[in-house]
Amino acid sequence: MTKRNWLAGVDVGGTTIKLAILDHDGDFITKWEVPTDISDSGHHIPKHIAATLKDKLHSFDATFSDLRGIGVGAPGFIEVETGFIYQAVNIGWRNYPLKERLEMETGVPVFADNDANLAAAGEMWRGAGGGAKNMLCVTLGTGVGGGLISEGIVLHGAAGMAGEIGHITSVPEGGAPCNCGKTGCLETVSSATGIVRLAMEKIEATKSGQLFELFQTTGLVTAKDVFDAAENNDENAKEVVREAMYHLGLAVANLANSLNPNVIVIGGGVSKAGNKLINALRPHFNRFALPKVAAETTFQIAQLGNDAGVIGAAWLVKENINNE
Ligand SMILES: [Zn+2]
Repeated sequence: MTKRNWLAGVDVGGTTIKLAILDHDGDFITKWEVPTDISDSGHHIPKHIAATLKDKLHSFDATFSDLRGIGVGAPGFIEVETGFIYQAVNIGWRNYPLKERLEMETGVPVFADNDANLAAAGEMWRGAGGGAKNMLCVTLGTGVGGGLISEGIVLHGAAGMAGEIGHITSVPEGGAPCNCGKTGCLETVSSATGIVRLAMEKIEATKSGQLFELFQTTGLVTAKDVFDAAENNDENAKEVVREAMYHLGLAVANLANSLNPNVIVIGGGVSKAGNKLINALRPHFNRFALPKVAAETTFQIAQLGNDAGVIGAAWLVKENINNE
């Protein structure tokens, strides 16, 4: 039987590892997930990935020799050239030679990158980016993640920190504390967590309106609820959306003035608000972007959802093998 030249994509998260086998065009052969074993500081993960990949390949009458490579994404600080993980807090890896360990287990070339960068690459290759060579990807979830793609290359910077747009300072004085140790970062106001925090402040202060009633009934307000209530003309919700989108629009416009992307892709939980989000964001973006940048930048909601990471990981293999 001839070799299949498949690509394996792996997205290691704190609770599950998502895996996929794709063909060279990025179409899924199969995808699945397994729980993440974070015991012993994540030391068993490479062995576990190798075992589940081997089993899955076997079910297709295939072996490791049918893979051109394995791409792996993880949340944390990763040296891309060596696949060395400086720190991945949710996994437990610290100074961990991931590439070396997984190559030892599988005998297949391994390439690694930060999960947000790979999600951006996945959207560029097979999702909302539509193959655009210049793309800014913003993930609005618990935090604000990002990926910058310029001339078809994922930017890493001198120390792998490029794309950390969640920590752009949005509120220079008196901002809320951020997980990074600073205050007033973009993610303190424009992430799902930030939007809910702003909404709860309004609910506490006014004790009235749709969000207040929703909170009284369900004990919970989500970022999507805030966008829905704003659409329904709730004053508190409208103010929260305005504040969150003002800061996001300002940050993204400054990035767009620097990078001149074809497309800005918005993903993560908050992107479930869809066009409501883009319609609320666009006026602020247009105000702060250069006229030509504002006119020529399109906004798209991310299309790949949880698959973006494994598709981007497979893209990483394809890029590296092609360039060798
Ligand atoms: Zn921060």
